[in-house]
Amino acid sequence: MEVLRHFSHVHPLVFNDERNHESGEVFCCACGELVSGPRFSCMECEFHLDKNCAEAPVEMDHPFHRKHNLMLTASSPYVEVNPICGFCNKKCEKFIYYCSCNLFFHIKCAFLSYKILEKKFRELVRRDALVSFECQPQELERVQCFACQKSLLQSDYISHDSRFYLHKKCFELPLEINHLSHRCHSLFLQFNSDHLPCKICFETQNRGLFYCCSICKFSLHIECVSPPPIVEEPSSHEHPFTRWLRASPFNCDACGTLGNYVSYICSTCNLMVHKECISLPRIIKNVWHEHPISHKYFVIDNECKTQD
Ligand SMILES: [Zn+2]
Ligand SMILES: [Zn+2]
Ligand SMILES: [Zn+2]
Ligand SMILES: [Zn+2]
Ligand SMILES: [Zn+2]
Ligand SMILES: [Zn+2]
Ligand SMILES: [Zn+2]
Ligand SMILES: [Zn+2]
Repeated sequence: MEVLRHFSHVHPLVFNDERNHESGEVFCCACGELVSGPRFSCMECEFHLDKNCAEAPVEMDHPFHRKHNLMLTASSPYVEVNPICGFCNKKCEKFIYYCSCNLFFHIKCAFLSYKILEKKFRELVRRDALVSFECQPQELERVQCFACQKSLLQSDYISHDSRFYLHKKCFELPLEINHLSHRCHSLFLQFNSDHLPCKICFETQNRGLFYCCSICKFSLHIECVSPPPIVEEPSSHEHPFTRWLRASPFNCDACGTLGNYVSYICSTCNLMVHKECISLPRIIKNVWHEHPISHKYFVIDNECKTQD
């Protein structure tokens, strides 16, 4: 008789690999799901763990959070509220992996993320948006890609258990990149646990994944790392704009403020603008400016600070 001493229960748990257990339907106390396969049980307390949950490591070195290990616990460290899972956005009520950086994951969601990292396509179900009968467009509007937090409409995506969604393009993202905006270190695909704003668009995205250098606290949105190469906005400008990556800042011809790293140019009109300024009502470069033009100096903080 195989017996397991598990941190979550006072009594030893007994292994049982019968498919049709005589006690009928039982639910795993760690993940909450119906147990259909092998399990570890304390019959006296009706406490059951499926084999995967029972053997889950107490510490997990998670590639999306390289700073610290995630710890497995049977209940939330915060008594007052149920934490929200960083993958599926649902409440965590049973076992969780957590880090004091305010990151929480269902035990199943933490494992799921490994399948994503290992690019296990087959174990994740892939469907084509708008072709699937199970997921209607209205439903797709509600859900977001867990990585980039953008809508899944009109894109190929992966879904799992109807609670986890990921664009196919986000599934294929490299875990480590070199980017011209931060040449001194690699950027890693990470949870934005420090709530850093994106260095290109200055917006903060609290959920999902970012490309980060944790040494310099430098982070970029997934979308800002590889923005669309050509943007057409016929209602505001008659020519298409082409992306032009730059190592130095530029002055936007539409709004007049400074831009970083990613500019869009119309070579016909000799314009250089922010991505978000392409959709401004009308972009006109005013060569013959009738008002006096004042000069401003911008101080750019674009150095890489190294850690002591
Ligand atoms: Zn379980
Ligand atoms: Zn017991
Ligand atoms: Zn979850
Ligand atoms: Zn942490
Ligand atoms: Zn995405
Ligand atoms: Zn951004
Ligand atoms: Zn750095
Ligand atoms: Zn033009």
